[in-house]
Amino acid sequence: MLRPGGTARARLPLPCRGAAARGQAQRGARARGAAGCRRAPGGRMGRMTTAAPVPAPTDAPDATGLGTRREPCELQVLDTALIAPDTLRLGLARVDGAPVRYEPGHFCNLAIPGPQGEVWRSYSVATPLRSGEARERIEVVAAAVPGGLATEYLFARRPGDRLRASGPFGRLLLPGEDPEYYLLMGTGTGLAPYRAMLPEIEQRAAGRALRVTVVMGVRSPAAALYLDEFRGFVARDPQHRRLWVHYSRELPETPAADEAAGYVQQGLPFLGLLPATTLAYLCGNPGMIDAAAGWLGAAGFPRRRVVREKYQSRPTAG
Ligand SMILES: Cc1cc2nc3c(=O)[nH]c(=O)nc-3n(C[C@H](O)[C@H](O)[C@H](O)COP(=O)(O)OP(=O)(O)OC[C@H]3O[C@@H](n4cnc5c(N)ncnc54)[C@H](O)[C@@H]3O)c2cc1C
Repeated sequence: MLRPGGTARARLPLPCRGAAARGQAQRGARARGAAGCRRAPGGRMGRMTTAAPVPAPTDAPDATGLGTRREPCELQVLDTALIAPDTLRLGLARVDGAPVRYEPGHFCNLAIPGPQGEVWRSYSVATPLRSGEARERIEVVAAAVPGGLATEYLFARRPGDRLRASGPFGRLLLPGEDPEYYLLMGTGTGLAPYRAMLPEIEQRAAGRALRVTVVMGVRSPAAALYLDEFRGFVARDPQHRRLWVHYSRELPETPAADEAAGYVQQGLPFLGLLPATTLAYLCGNPGMIDAAAGWLGAAGFPRRRVVREKYQSRPTAG
């Protein structure tokens, strides 16, 4: 099993936190805009009920993104921990101290030194927040891939180390108008962006019947990332929310009512999904995404109602 470089969780003092740095960050944010933001998915849904959400006010006027590949931002590693077998959590912050603005579901790219030069790898931002907010500390979770360049590099990082990043990017975002039913299906670290979405979904669901089913696919109980948080989310509105955990290799000794053996896509026929009212999100293992998207397509889901993010290395990422 790979070990992370360290497990210290203490917040490191961030340099450049004065007014000059804040001014610089503000100017940078204005110059860059929200790097990589694209329109949220879903298009206009057939039976919408809510108006587009007004972004929550932020108390971080100097909040900014993470730059671009040409002008990357420098991040400092605040803390590292193994939070599941071969799964590393990295707590990161901008070296200039500016809060990072991103939307729930966004990912960032990290520069990874390699034998043939630098490569870039993508990681979802797992830190929960509401739309329009910003966070000084963001966390990403990386699953170890045997022989992987980023795996070797990231698992050796220690608090205080620096990384270069760009972003935020991505299309795995909540739409302006909610559907009646969100399906959030992911495998392994592919649950990270859904964890980031929970506060925003909770806010949107306040006082209305917004159905949400989270379907988590993991190998074993030890690999069930953020399980308590997803269970807490469901427990706060059990009438409209469901969680299913599928274990592909090892079931818990005494499985709970929301736990089953097998692959996530095997549960699809039993979730009451209707193309007219459901917006489906698929994230993580590319094989799972192809299988689940195939089933949803055959069930009548148009492509725009199935938002996908395949976790695979992309040579052009940046
Ligand atoms: C938008 C996006 C978001 C992502 N978010 C995350 C995230 O939050 N957490 C996360 O852990 N990963 C995430 N990924 C995947 C991540 O970017 C890397 O692909 C992954 O960490 C492997 O990189 P590596 O350099 O260690 O392995 P590489 O050097 O790219 O690969 C080494 C070898 O392993 C194979 N390989 C690569 N990936 C896998 C795999 N998953 N399983 C089996 N074999 C593999 C390759 O084909 C190659 O032969 C994301 C990918 C994308 C596109």
